[in-house]
Amino acid sequence: MKERTLSIIKPDCVSAHNAGKVIDILESNGFSIIAMKKIHLTKKQAEGFYIVHKERPFYDSLTTFMSEGPVVVMVLEKDNAIADYRELMGATNPKDAKEGTLREQFATDIERNAVHGSDSKESADFEIGYFFSALELV
Ligand code: ATP
Ligand code: MG
Repeated sequence: MKERTLSIIKPDCVSAHNAGKVIDILESNGFSIIAMKKIHLTKKQAEGFYIVHKERPFYDSLTTFMSEGPVVVMVLEKDNAIADYRELMGATNPKDAKEGTLREQFATDIERNAVHGSDSKESADFEIGYFFSALELV
């Protein structure tokens, strides 16, 4: 069944000029781009996006990183998109990411890890709605 997930190319990956390579890999792996925008998040907008992590020790550092420069935000669609995109991203820590995954290729460390992907249907619904209105998702 077709499913949608939210992808973010994080500031480290955009500033390294690797956004196009990531998009190429996504399309080569069967993901369709339903909506896409490049934006520079404020600290507050990054905090709102990662609100589930607000009690974590890395929350302040993570949201500072996510607001340091522009990101590319996309809604991706394919069968089993949420799990398949998590697999294509690789482990949170690039040291543990399998060869060929996005994080193995483009991440620097556990924080500056190149890409984000929704981790469940509930997260995907919240995250897609955080960035895109219904009219942008037809
Ligand atoms: P994302 O939600 O960005 O797709 P993830 O689901 O693999 O990543 P989470 O546990 O949700 O990992 O953490 C969110 C983000 O917070 C990570 O992608 C990373 O940028 C940062 N992060 C996670 N753990 C740490 C840590 N121990 N130290 C620093 N930053 C971290
Ligand atoms: Mg996560």
